Amino acid sequence: MVDLAALRHNYSTLCALAPGARCAAVVKADAYGLDAGRIASTLHDAGCDIFFTATPDEGVEVRRAAGQASTVFVLNGYQSGTHGFLASHGLIPVISSADSLQAFHREGGGPFALHVDTGMNRLGLTVSEALDLPAAHKAGLQLVMSHLACSDVPDHPMNTRQLERFRTVLKSFPGIPASLSNTGGVLLGLDYHFDILRPGIGLYGVNPATEQAAPFRPVLHVDAPILQIRQVPAGDTIGYGARYTAQNERSVAIAAFGYADGLPRAAWQSGTARLGNIAVPLAGMVSMDLTALDITGHEALARASGRVQFYGEDLGPVAGASGTIGYELLVRLGQRLKREYRGQ
Ligand SMILES: *Cc1c(COP(=O)(O)O)cnc(C)c1O
Repeated sequence: MVDLAALRHNYSTLCALAPGARCAAVVKADAYGLDAGRIASTLHDAGCDIFFTATPDEGVEVRRAAGQASTVFVLNGYQSGTHGFLASHGLIPVISSADSLQAFHREGGGPFALHVDTGMNRLGLTVSEALDLPAAHKAGLQLVMSHLACSDVPDHPMNTRQLERFRTVLKSFPGIPASLSNTGGVLLGLDYHFDILRPGIGLYGVNPATEQAAPFRPVLHVDAPILQIRQVPAGDTIGYGARYTAQNERSVAIAAFGYADGLPRAAWQSGTARLGNIAVPLAGMVSMDLTALDITGHEALARASGRVQFYGEDLGPVAGASGTIGYELLVRLGQRLKREYRGQ
């Protein structure tokens, strides 16, 4: 279940953290797997009118959902030959190399954003390329942006280093709106906000900085039926590979949610799910369609409700148990799951 009321709450929370900035929304990868069309139209109704996608095709869907008046940026740069496509859908490329900037101007120019690399070494012009950019190449420039490599670790020295470099770059772009912060950057404080925020994961209710609390509400809840409840005697094992051994007699619920649905196999080592509001540990390796949960002491509740909830509050811990991050679990949510949207 995707909780659109929680999405709106997270959007207004991010806006309130940065009163001097405009809060855009990053809706790449189908809005982190949650359906870019629905997410963009919900956020648009909540007052958001700037969106970032990764690809032009994603941009087309977001343009359709967010109305003609919204600004839609495409993060993955400018590919020669795509000028007509972008222009016809009103999509603004975020240009990330000197060569592609030249191609863009040669092929028609118009509105664009500039991505400057301040230390991540992913996309973007180098700082010196940005500082030396000829004035003619700035025609149509709507936004100067960079991206933080370590904003999920608040006291990482990369944050201040990138902030300083970004400030240096901006001296060459007076009057042009600036954007540095993803969700983690927004949480780093006012110095990082500039004119436009680019949160993604926080909108979807996941705290990027696991070391400290964040004010977001979970957006994704997976509701799975319990197919069977069984008693496992002391010394018996559970699941493939017999990796889990019951130290004493346990009650186990088998839930219909497995790695085909996106739950990593390794999540069992310390992952949890919810029986009502009780956190219950996974017990034994996750299989393709099924996961065992230790519900010892809560058998009556499990029989009465017949269901358990995955992700929600447990998304971060399950990701941690699986050696990954909440982002990856969201985008890997299985196609088989029926999507239900609440809180319209
Ligand atoms: C994905 C992305 C974001 C959003 O990051 P979150 O950590 O999800 O908030 C912002 N900017 C760029 C360039 C990105 O690639």
